[in-house]
Amino acid sequence: MILCDLCGESKECLQIEIDGKEYDVCPECWNPLAEKLNGKGRVQASHEIVLLPPPRVVTERADEPKPLPGEPPKIWGAADRLN
Ligand SMILES: [Zn+2]
Repeated sequence: MILCDLCGESKECLQIEIDGKEYDVCPECWNPLAEKLNGKGRVQASHEIVLLPPPRVVTERADEPKPLPGEPPKIWGAADRLN
């Protein structure tokens, strides 16, 4: 038996993860809590996905010469290769 973090009684508790912390909450406490947290939880979940930066593709340009800092970037285009 696990002590419920909300009512303090030892019951068959669910392990609920909220904001990075795990709570032991019995179903009687969890049900009304879940209704309250329903909107917030989903907002935060989608918020985290939005915050993830898109993966940068670095290897694609790894073989191209990079301009030194302070220098204007050179244009390496097809014109140079045709000469
Ligand atoms: Zn409880």
